[in-house]
Amino acid sequence: AIASAHESWLADANRSGDWEEFMNARGHQGPQLAAAGIELHLEEVAKCLAAGGGAGLMDFRAGRRPDIPAPDGFPATHDQTHPCAKGEGEVSLLEAWELARPWFVDPEAGTFTQQAILPEGWFQGEYDLVYRWDGTSRIVDIKASDGRSEWAASYPVQMQTYAWLWWASHGKDEEVAGLETWYLGDGSRKVYPPPNTDEMQQFEDELHDFWEQHIATKGRRDIADYPPQPATVPSFAPGGGEQVGETDSSERCRQCYWAGECEGSGRKVDHDGATEFVDHDGSSHPLNNVSELIPRITVEGRIGTWKPNPWRFGGIAPALSLFTGGGSLWCSPYKGGPLAVADGIGGGTSVRIEGGYLAPTRNGGVQLKLDEHTTISAIEEDEFEGHQSPTALHRANIRGRVMSLSRGEGETNWGKWKRWGAELATADGPIEISAMSENIPFAHDEVKRDDEVAVIAGYATAFGDKKQLSFDAETVLRIL
Ligand code: SF4
Repeated sequence: AIASAHESWLADANRSGDWEEFMNARGHQGPQLAAAGIELHLEEVAKCLAAGGGAGLMDFRAGRRPDIPAPDGFPATHDQTHPCAKGEGEVSLLEAWELARPWFVDPEAGTFTQQAILPEGWFQGEYDLVYRWDGTSRIVDIKASDGRSEWAASYPVQMQTYAWLWWASHGKDEEVAGLETWYLGDGSRKVYPPPNTDEMQQFEDELHDFWEQHIATKGRRDIADYPPQPATVPSFAPGGGEQVGETDSSERCRQCYWAGECEGSGRKVDHDGATEFVDHDGSSHPLNNVSELIPRITVEGRIGTWKPNPWRFGGIAPALSLFTGGGSLWCSPYKGGPLAVADGIGGGTSVRIEGGYLAPTRNGGVQLKLDEHTTISAIEEDEFEGHQSPTALHRANIRGRVMSLSRGEGETNWGKWKRWGAELATADGPIEISAMSENIPFAHDEVKRDDEVAVIAGYATAFGDKKQLSFDAETVLRIL
């Protein structure tokens, strides 16, 4: 487990600190935390045994499993009686072990693939453990700490959120019976009373308001609405107990990655006001402001080829060629493409496409990508507004400070892909830079947080609500 944690840490583009130092100081805690977790689970097994096996004994012995069974090594659809099940008589310790087994994230499932997601899509979360042996559902969240840090202040809200998520994702007619935080650092459990339905409805309303104001507005938020007003840093008695201390808010800023950008930190580092970048070979490149980048564009034209490819989650993900005043433009979907395409749109229809973004084609041309922020509407001949088809990618040169790094890899029908990216803070706002597979620059492995970098001849594009500067074969990355 420690070797695989080390590998994950090495693969984390944003890692910081020293592994050896960390292991010398805290490496011994791993087995202690695991032992504390097993002890707490054994308390559940003992209670289940004392209760005669709990509510699920008869079903267990009959080979009946819940719709969503606890991961126990058998497939979810397994319909044979468990090998530990006795035919009759008092519950055995082995049976109690199996009956008490909570639902938990299957270790063989991918990261964040077993989430509870609201049907409306604006909230999701993943429970650690759900104990059900007594016929109710009890959510347990595991903490690899002793509950003394300031995080302990947020756990009551986190647990209330789980209770609400369970209720909201079960048609609002099933509630959890218990909420617990298990602090493995001191082997304690903190129990919270579950909220009632009125409280959960009020919580949902407030959370949704917050989401509408602060999350759904991602990419459009104004920094002026978020003045730097750091809170003090509380500390608590072990096990998330009473507050026992409070340090000045400057402690929060001292550990903050954004201190170099933030007026409130007292450590803001102004951006270099350079308007050009001179490369090693003496070539000079004018620098652009982020505000000059136009990630999404509007085009008009008549559809030639129309491919209404079915999208696996319903509807179509259309690809099309568009004959415009400036020539022909290939348009292809990103994932499912536009959220809705009106009936009647097809080959020969004149359309206005708004909110598409440009990307290179495999043979070096330009295409328009259509995503969930794109709309396609039919227009009459006299409704053309003169939006021209682009003939080239919109190139830009940006200089900025690396705030965070990201990496990813995966596989599609076309083969394996890798991605490397970073979020840059610039003099006039943040921007993502992103490179895929063969376009990932050689220097990417040397880029660290806080480095000043210049991206020359990136192309402006969009990722969701965010502006993005992407790399192709022409793009150059320099660490300054
Ligand atoms: S430095 Fe960080 S913690 Fe401090 S005020 Fe700014 S954003 Fe908040």
